[in-house]
Amino acid sequence: MITMKDVSFHYENKDVLKNINFEIPRGAFMGLVGPNGGGKTTLIKLILGLLKPDKGDIFLFGEPIHKFKAWNKIGFVSQKSNSFNKGFPATVYEVVSMGLTAKIGYFKFPTKRHKQKVLHAIDQVGMKEYTYENIGNLSGGQQQRVFIARSLVSEPELLILDEPTVGVDYENVQRFYELLHDLNTKKNITLLLVTHDTGTMTEYATDIVCLNQTLHFHGDPEAYCSLSETELSKFYGHPVNLVTHEH
Ligand code: ADP
Repeated sequence: MITMKDVSFHYENKDVLKNINFEIPRGAFMGLVGPNGGGKTTLIKLILGLLKPDKGDIFLFGEPIHKFKAWNKIGFVSQKSNSFNKGFPATVYEVVSMGLTAKIGYFKFPTKRHKQKVLHAIDQVGMKEYTYENIGNLSGGQQQRVFIARSLVSEPELLILDEPTVGVDYENVQRFYELLHDLNTKKNITLLLVTHDTGTMTEYATDIVCLNQTLHFHGDPEAYCSLSETELSKFYGHPVNLVTHEH
């Protein structure tokens, strides 16, 4: 779904990514981890076409990124999504229907089928009973589910999530990962998840990529968990305690 070949990028005089090579196969649940400032957000911006690499090639769904048009196949949920204040005047239904705007255009009335899609997306993330609730009254974890639903209405094949569990408490993080796992295995949605939460993530991801300017590791969660703390400290540039959660 995504191929990066020898991709490098710098801001002004700061090298951020060097010779990045990796692929995300269809059906993967890839966890992207690494230290702050390691280049994760920059990598996502390159994949979303918001930045252009200095060198190297990016392919989306087999097409060079500059020719790629089917952006509705890619959903994006950012960390900053869940910052609605109490009293923000929109219901869950209204927020989720914003995900259809790209398809139906502004100023056009949604059809009955569009409405069904919105309700279905809300149901998929387990928020049916909150459909007409004000978004500002929901917890951070519930709001994050609503933002997933907003990206699901356009039926993406690939969902990219940037630190979606920041500010979500432990129990809801577990539920959130279960939702992602269902989307991945039952709805066949390929996932790329940027996270600091390496403990819970290793229970669900199929692949882990560790980025700090270059790719330091790419493999399955078992291989990642078997890395010693010394090896991980080399990646991160500081001591690391790897906390894993057993099933
Ligand atoms: P991460 O998401 O892994 O924390 P980022 O991709 O946000 O890393 O940042 C990588 C490096 O690039 C950091 O050193 C950051 O300070 C720098 N950086 C990020 N955005 C910009 C920008 N717009 N201009 C200049 N430097 C930036």
